[in-house]
Amino acid sequence: MVDPQVSPDPIDTSVAHPARRYNYWLGGKDNFAADRESGDEFLRHFPWIPVGVRANRAFLQRVVRYLTEEAGVRQFLDIGTGLPTADNTHEVAQRIAPESRIVYVDNDPLVLVHARALLRGTPEGQTAYLQADLREPEAILSRAELTDTLDLSRPVALMIIAVFHFVPGEGAAQPVVDRLMRELPSGSYLAVTHVTGDFMPPEQIAAHEKMTSAGRSDYWLRGREEFSALFDGLELVEPGIVPVSDWRPDPGTAVPDPSNVGVWGAVARKP
Ligand code: SAH
Repeated sequence: MVDPQVSPDPIDTSVAHPARRYNYWLGGKDNFAADRESGDEFLRHFPWIPVGVRANRAFLQRVVRYLTEEAGVRQFLDIGTGLPTADNTHEVAQRIAPESRIVYVDNDPLVLVHARALLRGTPEGQTAYLQADLREPEAILSRAELTDTLDLSRPVALMIIAVFHFVPGEGAAQPVVDRLMRELPSGSYLAVTHVTGDFMPPEQIAAHEKMTSAGRSDYWLRGREEFSALFDGLELVEPGIVPVSDWRPDPGTAVPDPSNVGVWGAVARKP
């Protein structure tokens, strides 16, 4: 259910929002001039972005398929939902296991407005949406939408896909992951993707630094080391920490060069 406590804030269409800009890069229609302008500015410096966002989205879908089909997971906590598009987490999971239960979390009021589309799941399963900020894991964990939908004594897959780069600060992601994973039982999974500068040539790194200091980028790039640490204490699923497109690619699909993807991804199991 949509949280009745939260009346959607007036949606500010004059500033770019990550969810709408991502929708623009994916070729969607749920975006405004400010999102396209910001999106185009990124594309001028990083023309590979459309490859990266598609690779990220395809990773999400392969991971949900893996978790449902091979790992037997039936509960998902998907933080940083984005605007509904094709094959959202609940659709992929419930196609394989209709009884799957999904809780979506996003902090953008526009995603809340669109959330109804996410809540049409199978009758056997359940989907819920709550508006909250990833930076406040305690608040997420205490929400009734979560505890009414997911049984936290049974395995849950925590998905934080293409979100942590909006949580700036050295080491800022780690305590959030630690807090959320602490609440989940053995047999739970963590799946994360993160935009990185690790594959960017120096001129792109410099361009991004310039955009950041001009207040034109809301991305906080993280390198392999800080990304890998998010999985400490967990068992990485093969092939481990890789550019998202290299994670169990579907046979017969072309795998782009990592410099055209720019996103780390990994999945791990809590022992
Ligand atoms: N996970 C989806 C969508 C990624 S777009 C996918 O990978 O396809 C990133 C989403 O994260 C946006 O919807 C944005 O609103 C959300 N987001 C950004 N910062 C957030 C925060 N601090 N807390 C919760 N959601 C956040």
